[in-house]
Amino acid sequence: ITSKLPHIGTTIFTIMSRMATEEGAINLSQGFPGFGADPVLLELAGKYIREGYNQYPPMAGIPGLRQRLAEKTQLTQGYFPDPEKEVTIVSGATEALFAAVAAVVRLGDEVIVLEPAYDSYEPAITLNGGIPIYVSVNSGDFSVDWEKVKAAISPKTRVIMVNSPHNPSGFVWSSEDVDHLAELVRDREIYVISDEVYEHITFDGRKHISLGSHPELREKTFVCGSFGKTFHVTGWKIGYCIAPVDMTSEFRKIHQYLTFTTVTPIQYALAEYLEDPVRYLSIPEFYQSKRDLFAKGLAETQLKFTPSAGSFFQLASYGHLSQISDQELAEKMTRKLKVACIPISVFYSDKRDDKIIRFCFAKADQELLEALERLKELP
Ligand code: PMP
Ligand code: GLN
Repeated sequence: ITSKLPHIGTTIFTIMSRMATEEGAINLSQGFPGFGADPVLLELAGKYIREGYNQYPPMAGIPGLRQRLAEKTQLTQGYFPDPEKEVTIVSGATEALFAAVAAVVRLGDEVIVLEPAYDSYEPAITLNGGIPIYVSVNSGDFSVDWEKVKAAISPKTRVIMVNSPHNPSGFVWSSEDVDHLAELVRDREIYVISDEVYEHITFDGRKHISLGSHPELREKTFVCGSFGKTFHVTGWKIGYCIAPVDMTSEFRKIHQYLTFTTVTPIQYALAEYLEDPVRYLSIPEFYQSKRDLFAKGLAETQLKFTPSAGSFFQLASYGHLSQISDQELAEKMTRKLKVACIPISVFYSDKRDDKIIRFCFAKADQELLEALERLKELP
């Protein structure tokens, strides 16, 4: 078979998680919670399965969940998307991102991608005939260099793909960033695909600003989110896309033939669970204590870092300690120290090695403390 994606192998998340299991290492690599979800949510899922909510739901998602998501959006972001025509429930943010790309990218279109970037963007673009145009964020704090983004725009630019809170850096956009983007796409036929899977994980009082909350950007943006990330159930693979009516209509044409629908009982469970806003409003506090615990311990190691501003990831640099590549270090740490992490060179198109590794701190406190003890042994 002639591969359509010859440059793609197994994802680093799978590789590192597998290595962690083989080595019996504490797995701070792949981003998934190491603790259970709220028993109330699990009970609801069981209830709806037992009560027979097990056949195909409506293609766009059950009305109850779309309504609750619109209400959540109103409460947290100050705008109310039309549940009927602007909200679609899909099988995870990965599907939302892919379907959004497929809905608008045509052969030869350019898609600006800010890097370091999550690994699913590029294959989605390439498979849909698009050309990724990479713009690096500033090294150091991972803020966006808007002049560079502007310089990357060409008559062929069709989409800009963005992600805040950012994986892997944790960088969280300010309202100035949002305004910059709005200015760049103003009067241009450019869509925005906004990966907001960490929307509820921000620290030190920062607030996530959804691009959907900006009146101009709202008209051009596919907002992609993940219930799996938000409610500690990544294996449920359920997410959403919010976009204006005409864009949603194209998005649904793709969703209809990609997966058609997503898991029925879980949609009912989430709809009921979302009735109480405390369930998502309490998430920043929950993760802040983990971020703080991890940062406190990391300060006692020789790694250098700035505490994460959002997401459940913490970056750390080691260039002052060793010159081995980040991939080698990640492997060595997994096998010798028994702590697995992600080398961030894999998030760059040119695989540049800035000697930075990523830890996921969405783990039980005891596990984090044990990992931190081991990290003290570095280098
Ligand atoms: N985007 C980013 C930045 C992510 O970190 C993830 C997480 N795995 C996803 C998208 C995919 O989310 P989901 O598991 O809902 O498909
Ligand atoms: N988003 C998760 C991470 O960045 C991984 C999800 C996956 O394995 N595809 O670690």
